[in-house]
Amino acid sequence: MVIGASLAGVRACGGLRASGFEGAITLVGAETHQPYDRPPLSKKVLAGEWEPERIALFRPDDVEKLHLDLRFGSPAAALSLADRRVTLDDGSQLGYDGLIIATGAATRRLPGQLVDDSVFELRTLDDSLTLRARLLAGGQRVTIIGAGFIGLEVAATARQLGNEVVVLEGLPAPLIRGLGAEMGTAVTMLHADHGVEIRCGVSVRGIIRDDSGLTVHLGDGHGNTEALASDIVVVGIGVSPVTAWLEGSGLDLRDGIVCDSTLNAGTVGVYAAGDVARWPNPQFADEEMRVEHWTNASEQGLHAAKNLVAVANGDEPTPYSAVPFFWSEQYGARIQFIGRAAGEDDVRIVRGSVEERSFLALYGKHSVLRGALGLSMPKPLMQSRMFLLEGLSFDEAIEAAAAL
Ligand code: FAD
Ligand code: NAP
Repeated sequence: MVIGASLAGVRACGGLRASGFEGAITLVGAETHQPYDRPPLSKKVLAGEWEPERIALFRPDDVEKLHLDLRFGSPAAALSLADRRVTLDDGSQLGYDGLIIATGAATRRLPGQLVDDSVFELRTLDDSLTLRARLLAGGQRVTIIGAGFIGLEVAATARQLGNEVVVLEGLPAPLIRGLGAEMGTAVTMLHADHGVEIRCGVSVRGIIRDDSGLTVHLGDGHGNTEALASDIVVVGIGVSPVTAWLEGSGLDLRDGIVCDSTLNAGTVGVYAAGDVARWPNPQFADEEMRVEHWTNASEQGLHAAKNLVAVANGDEPTPYSAVPFFWSEQYGARIQFIGRAAGEDDVRIVRGSVEERSFLALYGKHSVLRGALGLSMPKPLMQSRMFLLEGLSFDEAIEAAAAL
């Protein structure tokens, strides 16, 4: 049985069949939609360039070919490991021999966040279609809270649709925890080029609707306050792994489902994959991580399925060892990162420059190469993946990058 019918769950179903599993597969999903891909929700779908059919994760005959029993529209509510049984929210009970949990992540909210039809979050297809109906009108004052991936991608799309956009961030620099101040500057400049202001170091005190309309109230921590009149507010302040339904199940839950290196969740026959899974990554000396990006969810879904079948057949499971990768698109520029960055990393631009809005930067710590970031530098970025896989030191990688 697979719980969670998005990227990791769909890949897990394919992986089970590809590994030779011929038994019944039930795919349980909380949403009523057929499974869909999320990255376009803040890009082409939000921009009105793609319709929902374009982002289907199943091809038309996949469900039949994979012999899947789909249970959509009622989330899993409880897991009994002792009885090997999942209870759905509608009360139905489903037994399993093997289980892959891929329930992903859900948006975080501001404390006491105003519920209003002009205050949006963005995680689901419905979120994207409702927001796009408002953005397509153009001329809206859009205030975005959080300069992470959602905030910056929505800012770029909203601006390209002719809206006035301001992005608010509590941290001193935008985007991507750990990518460093220099990269934050590059992103701020990219947005400024297109008329979007990113205001960092501000704290949002609340979103209020009164007779004068919708306002976002700010403070700078030094007694100065400000009210930003807005037609639309988008809150993009991160996500939390969806594990509440597993409380009391006996699984180890700590900001995700704690797994071993093979993605096994600590019990025979139970695996986790995607945004919800935390595992020690052998590629980074068994550093425990939870990754919230597309490539990871896709690969882990397949890997968990392969290991579930292998163990059932009496074979050895293999560790999931990976160099994390993500991309983002803003104003036609492609930001790509490969590896694992931390705030204290040394960051070195080895090709291009921030001024050119095109560069390759390498990240290192204690002479160990940890990652590479490209802004509109796709080929050198992909080539630098080899530096990580081959275990080059930071200095060796800097030298090798010069020859790319
Ligand atoms: P999810 O996609 O979160 O899916 C989990 C599924 O499980 C959901 O459908 C949910 O409804 C279901 N579920 C939850 N609880 C239950 C339950 N109890 N019972 C049954 N079902 C349940 N990554 C990139 O690398 N590049 C990008 O450009 C990019 N763009 C993105 C844009 C947006 C707008 C968003 C939201 C994400 C983006 N991502 C991107 C991240 C990427 O989409 C995620 O990492 C990926 O979707 C994770 O897949 P998942 O299957 O693990 O989890
Ligand atoms: P995110 O990338 O974690 O960024 C959230 C940002 O909001 C962080 O910078 C965070 O700062 C900030 N923030 C938190 N609380 C705030 C507050 N009260 N006021 C102002 N800023 C605040 O999360 P996200 O952008 O919401 O994205 C959600 C998920 O979708 C993530 O899993 C992300 O990976 C995924 N996604 C990925 C892509 C991509 O890979 N291209 C695109 C879209 C979405 P702190 O660090 O201090 O918390």
